[in-house]
Amino acid sequence: MRDDDKPAGFGFETRAVHAGAAPDPTTGARTTPIYQTTAFVFDDVDHAASLFNLQTYGYIYSRLTNPTVSVLEERVSALEGGRGATACASGHAAQMLAFFAFMEPGAEFLASTKLYGGSITQFGRSFKKFDWNVIFVDPDDPENFRRALTPKCRAIFVESLANPGGVVTDLEPVAQIAHAAGIPLLVDNTLASPYLCRPIEWGADIVIHSTTKFLSGHGNSMGGVVVDSGKFDWSQNDKFRSLTEPEPAYHGLRFHETFGDLAYTVAGHALGLRDLGATMAPLNAFLTITGIETLALRMERHCANALAVAQFLEAHPMVKWVSYAGLPSNRYHALAKKYLPKGAGSVFTFGVKGGYEAGVKLVEGCELLSHLANLGDTRSLIIHPASTTHRQLTEEQQIVAGAGPDVVRLSIGIESAADIIADLDQALRQAG
Ligand SMILES: *Cc1c(COP(=O)(O)O)cnc(C)c1O
Repeated sequence: MRDDDKPAGFGFETRAVHAGAAPDPTTGARTTPIYQTTAFVFDDVDHAASLFNLQTYGYIYSRLTNPTVSVLEERVSALEGGRGATACASGHAAQMLAFFAFMEPGAEFLASTKLYGGSITQFGRSFKKFDWNVIFVDPDDPENFRRALTPKCRAIFVESLANPGGVVTDLEPVAQIAHAAGIPLLVDNTLASPYLCRPIEWGADIVIHSTTKFLSGHGNSMGGVVVDSGKFDWSQNDKFRSLTEPEPAYHGLRFHETFGDLAYTVAGHALGLRDLGATMAPLNAFLTITGIETLALRMERHCANALAVAQFLEAHPMVKWVSYAGLPSNRYHALAKKYLPKGAGSVFTFGVKGGYEAGVKLVEGCELLSHLANLGDTRSLIIHPASTTHRQLTEEQQIVAGAGPDVVRLSIGIESAADIIADLDQALRQAG
């Protein structure tokens, strides 16, 4: 899995360009080729047998592993300070796979109430079909997690920087609470990216990304990744039997005993991708690898632009409030300084005067900003959740979800800040 170990000792920007990749041994191609192949030829029957028995690393079939996808896995793992990673077809596929490795019917987990809306639905509704039961917890007081723990809990799940309202989670105490209970902390690090925050350094055991957002970075490819720190001891109790008990499909192999700190990542491929099948396409891996090479440069500009726009909005007569953790007035500012010292990201919300109607007029009045449901693009994006992503909810539910009638969400891109501000200014005036 690690075909080039050198980048581990290099700085973040160097790892973003080089980790996991080396010139192609047959052709000398400098960028990572797109291995657009379904299957890989075996040397002989013994080689095939050892691959199928997980005794040798190698490529069999692209649902499980693919050389282009492996480079992406190695690269994101190197950026997060992980031991290994499993790439998936989307961020939601990554979340499914992250839990699949250790959950069993009847098990529970704690999750923050302040999550991406799609994650709330995935956990609260679809996971129920597997009898995996989520308990939602307000993350603003980390002690709430300790109070909500049950003997059936198998994990805690939070976002480092939460979508959409610029909420910063106090990762360190939450990790301590998880570890005292003998369970792992899973962190969705999509909005921060490893450039702004590396949750493993604060005690997280598993980090998840929707690579669709800042990692691919150009709004052109879906993807997800699960990074394992390799630090969690799956054998410390009897809660994680699928990693510690004999696995019948591999001749009774025990993943944790056999693969040690790579157990979770091997299981991610050999069980998760094998049986869930939510594999990332090699082309999407290629686009994401290319995107990651400029991650540091883009995040710097994303954060600088977002701060400038937030300051502009805070002083605007048509704006009621701005929720951006990079502003000193924000309640999460102190946590942002600790966990996101290089910037508070580029996704945040604000309240427009005039409620629902003004919100609709504002998004329709923007010319440079695109009205769509995505984030983490080079382009600046705007959405009015109450009339789009959250329109199915009652007004009361919308307010609880941070998507009340006056809420507008921005994902600030890397264009000239003055142009983004000018477009918002003219659209706000039209709305007023
Ligand atoms: C977009 C997003 C997801 C889901 O990712 P997809 O790639 O759309 O499946 C999960 N978490 C967060 C924070 C996101 O922004």
